Amino acid sequence: MIVCDYQKGNQGVGMEYYNPNQSMLELVFAPAEEWISCSDAEIIDATMKELAKLFPDEIAADQSKAKILKYHVVKTPRSVYKTVPGTEPCRPLQKSPIEGFYLAGDYTKQKYLASMEGAVLSGKLCAKSIVQDYELLLARGQKNLAEATMV
Ligand SMILES: Cc1cc2nc3c(=O)[nH]c(=O)nc-3n(C[C@H](O)[C@H](O)[C@H](O)COP(=O)(O)OP(=O)(O)OC[C@H]3O[C@@H](n4cnc5c(N)ncnc54)[C@H](O)[C@@H]3O)c2cc1C
Repeated sequence: MIVCDYQKGNQGVGMEYYNPNQSMLELVFAPAEEWISCSDAEIIDATMKELAKLFPDEIAADQSKAKILKYHVVKTPRSVYKTVPGTEPCRPLQKSPIEGFYLAGDYTKQKYLASMEGAVLSGKLCAKSIVQDYELLLARGQKNLAEATMV
């Protein structure tokens, strides 16, 4: 993660990160295999080049436009699964082939990588599947109850 403050005005006192005249960016490099051994300066340099492509009016790679006031690079190996070609079909759907058995987790089929966002989305999709099957599950539950009562 890299935090950059771009100077456009004075920093407010006691406002922590809040300043309407400045910007803070948090950026993630993933997969970072090629970057983990690089120096902070190399990572910042590559980041500025990428940002210059995305925001050409505001950012230039040589910092002739927005200036970095401070930054911090955090390297966390093994924080997310490596996404390699051919593994996407291995992700299971939230609705499993076993009736009444549902899966939630970043590894399940959803549009994001294995991440916090992916975990949250998988939970929503899991809940949606359960709601969709509600009538079926209810009928199954009532049948089981009726059978249990008869025994
Ligand atoms: C060091 C690190 C840094 C990360 N940084 C980021 C980040 O910056 N941004 C980001 O988006 N993601 C990050 N991630 C990934 C993110 O944490 C995961 O994608 C997310 O937590 C997955 O959520 P989940 O609910 O699918 O699984 P988990 O959070 O792994 O939850 C699974 C739970 O099931 C429990 N469990 C497992 N087996 C059993 C069992 N047999 N019985 C009962 N309980 C069991 C586990 O103890 C665990 O509590 C990071 C991960 C790591 C390890």
